[in-house]
Amino acid sequence: MNITFVAMGSELLGVERMSAFLKQKGHKVSLAFDPALFAERVYIENPYFAKLFSTTQETIDEIVSQKPDIVGFSVIADIYQWALYVATEVKKHIDVPVIFGGVMPMSNPEVVLKNDCVDIVCIDDGEHPMAELLESMERGSMRTNIENLCFKENGVIKKNPQRAPIPIETYPMFDKSLFEDVIPINQSYLTIASKGCPYVCSFCSESFKQPIHTGSHNEEGSAYTTNKQTHYEFKSVDDFMEELVLMHKRYNYTLVEFWDNTFTARKDWTLEFCERYKKEVGVPFKILTHPLCMDEDIAQALKNAGCYKVQFGVQTMNEEVRTLIIKRTENNRKVANAFACLDKVELGYSIDHIFGLPGEEDNMKAGLDEALSYYKNTKNLIQINTFWLSIWPKTEMFQIARDRGMIDDAEAERIENALDDNIYFDLGSVQDKEVIKLCENYQIMFKLLPFMPELLVNFLIKTGLYLHIGWMPRMFTRRLLDVATTLVNHDYKGYQYIRYYLWQMTKVVKSKIRHKLPNFSPARRLAESTTVGLMTDSADK
Ligand code: SF4
Repeated sequence: MNITFVAMGSELLGVERMSAFLKQKGHKVSLAFDPALFAERVYIENPYFAKLFSTTQETIDEIVSQKPDIVGFSVIADIYQWALYVATEVKKHIDVPVIFGGVMPMSNPEVVLKNDCVDIVCIDDGEHPMAELLESMERGSMRTNIENLCFKENGVIKKNPQRAPIPIETYPMFDKSLFEDVIPINQSYLTIASKGCPYVCSFCSESFKQPIHTGSHNEEGSAYTTNKQTHYEFKSVDDFMEELVLMHKRYNYTLVEFWDNTFTARKDWTLEFCERYKKEVGVPFKILTHPLCMDEDIAQALKNAGCYKVQFGVQTMNEEVRTLIIKRTENNRKVANAFACLDKVELGYSIDHIFGLPGEEDNMKAGLDEALSYYKNTKNLIQINTFWLSIWPKTEMFQIARDRGMIDDAEAERIENALDDNIYFDLGSVQDKEVIKLCENYQIMFKLLPFMPELLVNFLIKTGLYLHIGWMPRMFTRRLLDVATTLVNHDYKGYQYIRYYLWQMTKVVKSKIRHKLPNFSPARRLAESTTVGLMTDSADK
């Protein structure tokens, strides 16, 4: 069978894993990629340039030209509306089943299946369900009783049970070849060694995943105690090294990004990995982790292995909000200790901070000042990534925000149906004007902090001037300061991102010029030939 996966803005590891799995079963897998420049919902948003560089029509044309037997989308809430549009347009040209998977459909399959353009929704792992689906289609009749899949049958939604998680080690390596024409893999190799997360923060998609464990639980190697545990596992270091070494030979990549939610969650695994990585690969890398998963041994091992940046999900320094609202157990002392471990070995790190969390409004200035004082007393902090709370359907945060009256019925419905883009770096779900006004000052201050001289920081704080800098255009200033951070810190990833954008812009311009010549659009050609055919048929009658 021919499968076309559709991706927007970035490489998708889930799709690469699915592709490898389905190719092993003998299916043909293709990709239709929309770089969505200036609209990729991750870093850069600009409506004017987004329109100028839009390649959505070309993406639709490409899907149509591939004549797939099924079209698959991996969807998060902020690209959901785009995915619906593309699927609708594709179905105008070809009669093909469309399957949606990913976090957003998983949270709300019934809502997603209400759309005419979506036929099937996949919940959780899709490899085995998809293989079974294709096998049934190959035999001539689509099975609708496949676990993890939801279907529409005679207008009624049929939700099949979920299957037990499949061990991560049983899956093949990521099929990087699927993205190699659209993403410069040699510049930055993206991968992941684990699945899930040992934590269950209320704003995160982990909070609506099926619990495998409830009641008090201590994750091995971590001081964290939770009353819920979702499926979470690591590949063996052997398996992971095999992938990294093989792919290094194939792509000669110069940077690795480990996208594990909490890369250092298992101390023994981390120490063994760092030891081997240094000898067998030795390319600079960055990781994401949780402050509780850092100590001096881990910090030293990461530094020795070539880690150049650790990204910490800190989110708030308001202890009450952290405990009661985002459902974490670490205190500020432990967070500061994580910073100190990296300061000691002189390893750079960035912090994710969320503005607009419920509960912060009561004593907001004091809470943000506390965060500022912690952040400014660090040595190797190279960036503060500021986000605005985005509330996603079915998360625990959704209910918390509802209970606290932060979102009304109309907004709740918009969130449930993912009608808003809710971009987390442009106000997200935060609506309170007073909150926005105050936080905008801190957003600029946090962005300036890592590269402002201490004297200037203290001056701004002492004079209170830092509370009057939020008037600058939010998105523009944020991007400008991020670029400045990249230049000041010689951040590999930042440089690569700029190169990637220039490369994609050149490609888009060339493609636009090509399309402006004769009309090469397969979808349009098909539409034209169909129209001509229909006209001929009518004329014959
Ligand atoms: S630590 Fe990160 S990935 Fe894990 S639950 Fe919290 S926000 Fe989600």
